[in-house]
Amino acid sequence: MQRIVVLAGGIGGARFLRGLKSAAPEADITVIGNTGDDIHLFGLKVCPDLDTVMYTLGGGIHEDQGWGRAGETFAVKEELAAYGVGPEWFGLGDKDFATHIVRTQMLGAGYPLSAVTEALCARWNPGVRLLPMTDDRVETHVLIDTADLDGSSGDDAESGRRAVHFQEYWVRLRASVPAHAVVPVGADVAKPGPGVLEAIADADVVLFPPSNPVVSVGTILAVPGIREGIADADVPVVGLSPIVGNAPVRGMADKVLSAVGVETTAAAVAQHYGSGLLDGWLVDTVDAGSVQAVEEAGIRCRAVPLMMKDTEATALMARQALELAEEVRA
Ligand code: GDP
Ligand code: CA
Repeated sequence: MQRIVVLAGGIGGARFLRGLKSAAPEADITVIGNTGDDIHLFGLKVCPDLDTVMYTLGGGIHEDQGWGRAGETFAVKEELAAYGVGPEWFGLGDKDFATHIVRTQMLGAGYPLSAVTEALCARWNPGVRLLPMTDDRVETHVLIDTADLDGSSGDDAESGRRAVHFQEYWVRLRASVPAHAVVPVGADVAKPGPGVLEAIADADVVLFPPSNPVVSVGTILAVPGIREGIADADVPVVGLSPIVGNAPVRGMADKVLSAVGVETTAAAVAQHYGSGLLDGWLVDTVDAGSVQAVEEAGIRCRAVPLMMKDTEATALMARQALELAEEVRA
């Protein structure tokens, strides 16, 4: 049985995984999920990326939105707002609340996030093994200009800059202001979650889906041991570009890419991962002109359609990624 390891963020990762499952129904798929987006809200631990993968593969996702539950209601959120309790900018529906209550209760009882995630997945049957990148607390923060944050306090007067939680930057501010740095706080002392390094060492192929290269895949790679484990394992590593025609397909990846000094192009993202890590890279057909630059950087590259418009199109992308992996192996 083919053992595939995928490093996934939320929407892009989850949709790709649905195609991968359809392309390789017999494969044993382990997903290493980003937890840098996690946030505590209303006393509850919320793990947006893990839940997006779980709901998408388990058939509970709000399809158009790409996150949260289908057929959602917002009674709890409205009641909280009536008490003046926020934040109001983060969308938590009633069904979704139940997930976070169960998670928080189990964490409070002493279970690590990996065990909690396994328990939640027992209901959703995602058909993959979903492992948090770490059981330790990691929180991605984004450094912005204080002037861009109205009503701010606790800012660093000297620099005129302030770090905000990734969700505040992404959801509340809609990434509409410049980001000067992206810091996965706690990653440097985090340990890979149980099974993560073992899955990498045993993998036949490692895939980077079209997830955000900075705040999703980049955060996972920032946990000491994960990048090294992938680079040192004798396994083909193939990625699919989340950047098509010099722009993110959805979301605001360009903002966080510029914060780490990377151009918003398919080729620049490949070079950012680097040939020490990446063996193969798929770019969209509109970016066929960048194939040569990627290959010159020592990464085998192909141009194929990369729009995940339905499961069939996504399965074809997954198949091409697996084929490219076979090519590099040979
Ligand atoms: P998030 O955690 O919800 O932001 O999700 P991910 O990090 O997994 O994925 C976000 C990335 O997916 C964005 O940078 C998008 O550009 C990319 N993306 C979304 N849909 C598509 C698609 O259909 N094709 C490609 N190539 N990339 C996509
Ligand atoms: Ca995310």
